[in-house]
Amino acid sequence: MAPKSDIEIARAAQKRPIMEIGDKLGIPPEQLIPFGHDKAKVTADFIASLEGRPDGKLILVTAINPTPAGEGKTTTTVGLGDGLNRIGKRAITCIREASLGPNFGLKGGAAGGGYAQVVPMEDMNLHFTGDFHAISAAHNLLAAMVDNHVYWGNALGIDVRRIVWRRVVDMNDRALRTITAGLGGVANGYPREAGFDITVASEVMAILCLARDIEDLQKRLGDMIVAYRRDRSPITCRDLKADGAMAVLLKDAILPNLVQTLENNPAFVHGGPFANIAHGCNSVIATRAALKMADFVVTEAGFGADLGAEKFFDIKCRKAGLRPDAAVLVATVRALKMNGGVAKADLAAENVQAVLRGCANLKRHIDNVRRFNVPVVVAINHFMGDTEAEIEAVEAYVAAEGSEAIVCRHWAEGSAGIEALSHRVAELATSGTADFSPLYCDELPLWQKIETIAHRIYHAGEVTASSAVRDQLAQWEAAGYGNLPICIAKTQYSFSADPTLRGAPTGHVLPVREVRLSAGAGFVVAICGDIMTMPGLPITPAAERIRLDAKGHVEGLF
Ligand code: ADP
Ligand code: MG
Repeated sequence: MAPKSDIEIARAAQKRPIMEIGDKLGIPPEQLIPFGHDKAKVTADFIASLEGRPDGKLILVTAINPTPAGEGKTTTTVGLGDGLNRIGKRAITCIREASLGPNFGLKGGAAGGGYAQVVPMEDMNLHFTGDFHAISAAHNLLAAMVDNHVYWGNALGIDVRRIVWRRVVDMNDRALRTITAGLGGVANGYPREAGFDITVASEVMAILCLARDIEDLQKRLGDMIVAYRRDRSPITCRDLKADGAMAVLLKDAILPNLVQTLENNPAFVHGGPFANIAHGCNSVIATRAALKMADFVVTEAGFGADLGAEKFFDIKCRKAGLRPDAAVLVATVRALKMNGGVAKADLAAENVQAVLRGCANLKRHIDNVRRFNVPVVVAINHFMGDTEAEIEAVEAYVAAEGSEAIVCRHWAEGSAGIEALSHRVAELATSGTADFSPLYCDELPLWQKIETIAHRIYHAGEVTASSAVRDQLAQWEAAGYGNLPICIAKTQYSFSADPTLRGAPTGHVLPVREVRLSAGAGFVVAICGDIMTMPGLPITPAAERIRLDAKGHVEGLF
């Protein structure tokens, strides 16, 4: 019999009422704002009341460079949360919300998979509690106010050639990457080149994920730079008086969403994915609240550890004062094989040599995580076709590197399949060996920060950029933004900017194509290689298979 699909398993879940899940965490019913029976937001008052409680241990789940299908980071994050609960620990899982773009495109959902999922998975992968819609609306309100300001006389002196605030939509839509806005005559404003990003790449998303509370959110929104004058002086969201209305649109979106796993353990789903083009972490508000309510908090960072973990450490933890206690590096035999040069079509055949070649990629990620002084253990996310010889090869390789690889079967078995990893992680996280330090200090100049990431994490030989990019960085430094961390946007498939360069390449060139200042979120985005901040759909989008059955159930979401 074919294994059940993620959605079939999710639909058969024995969910508990969400108030009961809140009760387990000590959240009184009046402090939960229910969205139906199985989702709720936690009030700001309750979160504020947690201040002063001690923090639990923070565990990051990250991964090697992925295959196009995803390696099971979310599946493993959810599985580990359940596993820790199974062995008697109080644990909360903190993951990101889903973007409609990849759901209808290629990759599928963000709720985990198999017997390690959060539910309701359909809701979570569709409109959920409306957070992303609120973010899109807030973002586009500001865009409308920029063009409106110009239309009504441009008192602030916006240089229409230097409007940097784009529009967003939560969809993969390449046709909108670059557009001409304001066509159609005098009544429609001034024609100008504009464009769209996907919602997860919005600075508003980053702010929602990094803000301490609603007050901090509003301040950061005000700080965002939307355009420049002819003399290059910046014009902010506050100058346009849009920050208040944007915060109003976001007042519910900023509250963490509580749901449950298939095993009825609590999970906070809050904040945006996509660590290739954004920082891509669960919100600081959700992670910090969870740390106050549990002994262990398991959270994920997107894609390979070169992108996701580096940003988790250098942006989220640095900015929020979080001190991670342990990291789990998810590897799969098939992704190791691909990193060892095997084509996707040949993954089914046993190939120990390719697995071992691919382990070079794993080793580099282990070394990289260790640079942040966080102890790391490898989780081999077991797939049905993996052979004993392949798994043993990975275990032996990792042991020789002075770490440990533990086979996990949570996808097939739920928490029962991930006990060994759960014990090891609990032990590591409480061992006191972590002594987190970011990769670079705040004072390092922006260009050197990019170089530091490129050399130390990616093992690039050289970083290149046009003089326009370098001048831009110098201007921001002169304007007082030099102490911000860097958020690299690049392909997730390689340590380099070339998606076909798998394994552990060295000496490659990192081309920085464009830089963007996110003054409200508090980082500088460096866009490298061909990565797009608005993805496109593949030749056969997943949307072609998604439909409702006769009973109104969603089919094909996977
Ligand atoms: P990531 O978070 O790394 O992108 P996910 O956890 O979302 O990956 O998993 C991607 C897909 O792979 C999901 O559909 C999930 O069901 C499937 N998957 C994950 N782990 C396994 C496994 N061990 N065996 C088979 N399928 C798996
Ligand atoms: Mg995921």
